[in-house]
Amino acid sequence: MPSKDYYEILGVSKNANDAELKRKYKRLAMKYHPDRNNNSDETTKKANAEKFKDISKAYDVLSDPDKRKKYDMFGEEGLQGMSEGPSPFDMFGNIFSSMGGMGGGIFGNSRQQRPPDNSKKASPNVYAKLSMSLQDAYRGIEVEKSLPRVEKCDLCNGKGTTAPDGIQNCRICLGKGETVQIKRMGPMITQQISTCYACKGACKMIKPGSECKKCKGDKIVSNIRNYKIKIPKGSVDSDEIIIKGESDWIEGYGYHGDLIFKLELTIGTCNMKREGVNLVITRNISLVDSLCGVDFGIKHLDDRVIRVKYNGIIKEGDSLLVKGEGMPISKEKQKNIKQSNKKIKSGDLVIRFKLLYPDELDEERKNLIKKVIPNVKSLDSRNINILPEHYPVLKKKKIQI
Ligand SMILES: [Zn+2]
Ligand SMILES: [Zn+2]
Repeated sequence: MPSKDYYEILGVSKNANDAELKRKYKRLAMKYHPDRNNNSDETTKKANAEKFKDISKAYDVLSDPDKRKKYDMFGEEGLQGMSEGPSPFDMFGNIFSSMGGMGGGIFGNSRQQRPPDNSKKASPNVYAKLSMSLQDAYRGIEVEKSLPRVEKCDLCNGKGTTAPDGIQNCRICLGKGETVQIKRMGPMITQQISTCYACKGACKMIKPGSECKKCKGDKIVSNIRNYKIKIPKGSVDSDEIIIKGESDWIEGYGYHGDLIFKLELTIGTCNMKREGVNLVITRNISLVDSLCGVDFGIKHLDDRVIRVKYNGIIKEGDSLLVKGEGMPISKEKQKNIKQSNKKIKSGDLVIRFKLLYPDELDEERKNLIKKVIPNVKSLDSRNINILPEHYPVLKKKKIQI
């Protein structure tokens, strides 16, 4: 078979330089690309496809100094044993993608990047919810939790096969890691170079039938891991507890990232609630108690009983403060909360009062009350917009256990 004249195919002289070769290649490749010949008859299509192949081959040889030299000396025969160039479509894709889009809007161009190299990175963190009651958050608690973790298959060491010849070039991208797709949209022709969907850019595949017996070629297994998690005193909603190196194994990443437990406060039966660092409890008292003083006990979150004894008048919505009986504040958080430059180790307990009025009073009692209680006319605004730190502070009495 006579040698094909590559110079003639590209329509260039024997002295053509790289720029000239590229220019001619581009012009001809666009003209004869099969996706641009959809409307032609079968014979023309075939002939054009052949031309497209020849143009690609000619450009591959002439743009490579070594191949060109051999070709100039010995013709096509001289190329035997030299490496094959990329497929015509790949070459087309490579050349047009390196241009970053063609002028004139004939060819659009998009290129999907290959996955980045993550071999020195940790796999992404995994998040899990961990619920706790207010009691747990107040006291601090250690809980046990079991969660599945994706791990590298230990039988095949994450290769997906134990056979020595079990890994071969991907059959979809032929080991290139990417595929070229040409799309026509009206007058536009776009080509997309995408990461190969079959091997995900890894270029390699497990030979059918050689899959690892344990992971079935998935490279991963799922194992249940048991965790002992310490919820520190004073934890709040959406605090995070980080367990180092316990996220899932993902192929390509250098090591395991972290498992992060996000705390979630459950709405329990507890009659206290947290407001910032303070704990708040609402207490109903009778009208008589509101006038004559109160003396009662509050069961705290750690089961201690706090005695509340107050002899002043309590109005609807009034509050009392028990210093230091709110949520504990961890050393870490103490840095963020400063009150008059003093570190505080815990918040306060706020007791809010609600008054219970009698449903009715007979005339006799009304008259008695009128005699003993002075009629107050002015509106007292002392309870409006008062911050907890200005509440009357309850003198601490003995705490019973
Ligand atoms: Zn592939
Ligand atoms: Zn395996």
